[in-house]
Amino acid sequence: MSLIELRNIIQDFDISDPWMARVLQGQERRLLRAVDNVSLSIEKGETYALVGESGSGKSTIAKIMVGLLNPTAGQVVIDGQPLTVQSRSPQARALRRRLQMVFQSPYASLNPRWRVGSLIGEPISAFGLIDDKKGQERRVHELLEMVGLSSNDANRFPHEFSGGQRQRICIARVLASEPEIIVCDEPTSALDVSVQAQVLNLLRDLQAELDLSYLFITHDLAVVRQIAHRAGVLYLGQLVEEQSIDDLFAAPQHPYTQMLLEAAPRVDRFNRDFTTDPDAAESPSPINRPSGCPYHTRCEQAVAACKTVEPSAHTVASGFHRCDVRQTA
Ligand code: ADP
Ligand code: MG
Repeated sequence: MSLIELRNIIQDFDISDPWMARVLQGQERRLLRAVDNVSLSIEKGETYALVGESGSGKSTIAKIMVGLLNPTAGQVVIDGQPLTVQSRSPQARALRRRLQMVFQSPYASLNPRWRVGSLIGEPISAFGLIDDKKGQERRVHELLEMVGLSSNDANRFPHEFSGGQRQRICIARVLASEPEIIVCDEPTSALDVSVQAQVLNLLRDLQAELDLSYLFITHDLAVVRQIAHRAGVLYLGQLVEEQSIDDLFAAPQHPYTQMLLEAAPRVDRFNRDFTTDPDAAESPSPINRPSGCPYHTRCEQAVAACKTVEPSAHTVASGFHRCDVRQTA
């Protein structure tokens, strides 16, 4: 049994105009499908990288996994138990403690008025992990040292630290809950390259020490190779390929993955944003999702059937891909 599973997750967002405008103009309700039937699982001690360009649904999947967002359909399952977002039962609380999230912007996720010691200590008391003040303080110092900071830093405020150090504080705060699964949503993409590598090394060391599982979200394939065991490639909310890291880099199956790997040295192209991209007009978005294979409008290998037939999943050695052309070639 996997530690955590996403089963057939669908997320629709209502992007209709306000009700009155809709009625006056006779418009239908408009839904945007940000996540389209995604299933994946992560083992204990494993890092699963979720790769995809801006708008492909990565952050939405992250929020669903940690219970910040209730999916339109599908289930999040931990140790075989479904994670129900609304439930306030002690069991649901205990499940949520096991799942924590590190965000892209370490500044936005730290309350600037709190001292670092209180920021890190808060989950310890909130989850009732250690009751006495002295014990809590000792634990805060231990956590600071685990992430490469000093126990004196407990008395300082977040703004006194650099971006990389602030991300270390966020990691210490997350570790304070004693989680088993940490969802990292582009945790290093706001940092300088040299600092990025240090934070990635820290995450890797902590994984080895604490047997943590990571869902690691990134658009940077170099990072994927450095940190992940397996990866899933997301395109317009669909998982189009999943393989072990070695297989993915040696033999990418889906034309989209192939394009990403070819474009990898040109990070600018991979990191394209739908709003700033010069071909933005041609780039499909979840609002005007193409029929058939969602990638057919950009695919160099597409044939006529790709426009109409939704591709099925094809098994390969360590995973699967969704490209019918590739399969029959
Ligand atoms: P990524 O993290 O891969 O950049 P997101 O998960 O943030 O992608 O977004 C996926 C799609 O869902 C995008 O088209 C985005 O505009 C849309 N979206 C995300 N959150 C909302 C929301 N709360 N309301 C409407 N649309 C949303
Ligand atoms: Mg995102």
